[in-house]
Amino acid sequence: MTPVSWQPDRSADPGSWPHPPMTTAIGRGLLGRCPACGKSHLFNSFLRVVSECSNCGAPLGLVRADDVPPYITILITGHIIVPLLFMVDRMGEPPIWLMSAIFLPLTLLLTIGLLQPIKGGVVGIMMNLNMLKSDPAAT
Ligand SMILES: [Zn+2]
Repeated sequence: MTPVSWQPDRSADPGSWPHPPMTTAIGRGLLGRCPACGKSHLFNSFLRVVSECSNCGAPLGLVRADDVPPYITILITGHIIVPLLFMVDRMGEPPIWLMSAIFLPLTLLLTIGLLQPIKGGVVGIMMNLNMLKSDPAAT
């Protein structure tokens, strides 16, 4: 059995769009702007990334964030909700209906509120690292 090794393709064309520093790209993505130029919208619906930046031409549609944004969203939401839930429970064991009335909407709001900015940040990281899907026809 031969060992499998993978190396990033550093000879790939870096593209003609701007390549800002990593923190700038992440910040622009978190704000829902193009990570490359920061001047146009990153999303054309809640989580659908535009195929190409209308300002700088960065191929944003070739970035496939896949499951990373939901994973990070669940990680952050869980680390906020679970300690709060235990704290409230220890303060006097409130009834289940009250706990549900507080924490179910809070969890939903946090999840929906964090998902789009986190996806933008992940797209910013992936654009900065030039992690683009090479074949647009492939799924
Ligand atoms: Zn742009």
